[in-house]
Amino acid sequence: MEAHIAIFPSPGMGHLIPLIELAHRLLLHRRLFITFIIPTAAGAPIKPQNDILNAMPDNISSIFLPPVDLNDLPQDTALETRISLTVTRSLPALHQTLTELTTSDKKTPSALVVDVFGPFSFEIAREFNIPAYMFCTVSAMTLVATFQTPILDQMYACEYKDFPEPVRLPGCVPVQGTDMGDSVQDKKNETYAQMVELSKMFSMPKGILVNSFVDLEPGAFKALENGEWCKPEIYPVGPLIRSGLDNRVGTGFECLKWLDKHPVGSVLFVSFGSGGTLSQKQLSELAFGLEQSGQRFLWVVKSPHGKSNASYFNAQTHLDPFGFLPDGFVGRVEGRGLVVSTWAPQVEILSHGSTGGFLTHCGWNSILESVVCGVPMIAWPLFAEQRMNSVLVTDGLGVANRVKVDENGVVGRDEVSKCVKGLIEGEDWRKMRLKVSELKGLGAMALSRDGTSTRSLLNVVQKWCA
Ligand code: UDP
Repeated sequence: MEAHIAIFPSPGMGHLIPLIELAHRLLLHRRLFITFIIPTAAGAPIKPQNDILNAMPDNISSIFLPPVDLNDLPQDTALETRISLTVTRSLPALHQTLTELTTSDKKTPSALVVDVFGPFSFEIAREFNIPAYMFCTVSAMTLVATFQTPILDQMYACEYKDFPEPVRLPGCVPVQGTDMGDSVQDKKNETYAQMVELSKMFSMPKGILVNSFVDLEPGAFKALENGEWCKPEIYPVGPLIRSGLDNRVGTGFECLKWLDKHPVGSVLFVSFGSGGTLSQKQLSELAFGLEQSGQRFLWVVKSPHGKSNASYFNAQTHLDPFGFLPDGFVGRVEGRGLVVSTWAPQVEILSHGSTGGFLTHCGWNSILESVVCGVPMIAWPLFAEQRMNSVLVTDGLGVANRVKVDENGVVGRDEVSKCVKGLIEGEDWRKMRLKVSELKGLGAMALSRDGTSTRSLLNVVQKWCA
């Protein structure tokens, strides 16, 4: 019988999508059985999540764990804490599910694969004698930062924002303290202590598969390989991005038909991922800026929220976002600007020839997708480790420009307009386009038959099937 792999993703499309791609990729190389064991926080699974899960081949199955209750948490509880608690409160159900799986005819999993919030499950894996692996859904640079968190915690008493100099993570481009992850910005907040503890658990898995590739982050991979602080075996296996064309009807199809009508490389795609939301003021400034730029754009708009990650758990907004756009906006940009509500087929849009740029919140999947499609970016980070990702794509890789936030925390319309014009018609665009095309080629090579990521994935699969 084939080997059986259990995958335990933490909440969020940004975790589920790449883990599903990992599963698809594994099946290209080996006959395996894969079971997704999915924790849920808010009741019924969301539509985009269901669409993806329903499209999976027969030997990938999914089990939804009973939804956990987070209603006891204060409103202002950090996203990272919510994700961690969804995982930890699902552990008894994970235990129960593994008990059932190991006693059924499906055979004990030969590996439990979790993402970056999954290490809380390692004790259970140990109890069942299942080797635990992590799939890192963030960059190699963020992985280095995570390993360094407990070390930096010991070295510095002050907050990152008070660091006199940029943080120099081994093998990585220097990062201003304020650009380090959200979860480590406030040492008095309980989330900080939780993150230090979680970071320590990164030493526990047998191996860490990283959704990146050596040529994209050579310094970070070298540091991971050589640093005595990194105990697990590191396997670069990316760039794994969503491959299925899942949206040939409805809004998705409309977007692609609309793109067909525009010249090559002329349209800016604007999206803040599954979780990103803007304030009302920011939404209006973005709208006016896009209008002022005179450029073509396709914007996935969500209704505004005071929190920048308000749709993280459900990837959708409940109010009609069009009602929050400036009066007459849609009419004034008609023909050159398409606004769609909530969700669009991002990979298909980025791979469409008419798309010439991507204004992105710098979620790691979005960055990988842009690189794989050879599209330069405007970096507009919002939350989590996105500011660090934006440093990587700007200072590190030279494939993006970052928006400037004013003293009120807003990116004003003039700044939006300047960045958009610069990306679509400026000199910078040519340079960034060349750079990103080069990375696109290197990414394809990494996944080719004898590429670095393919070899590394085969190496780990061999261990699972031994
Ligand atoms: N995504 C999409 N359509 C949307 C918004 C997001 O297909 O309208 C996908 C996107 O292609 C990516 C994932 O959702 O694969 C978002 O992951 P990312 O890491 O970029 O950001 P997150 O949503 O986790 O903040």
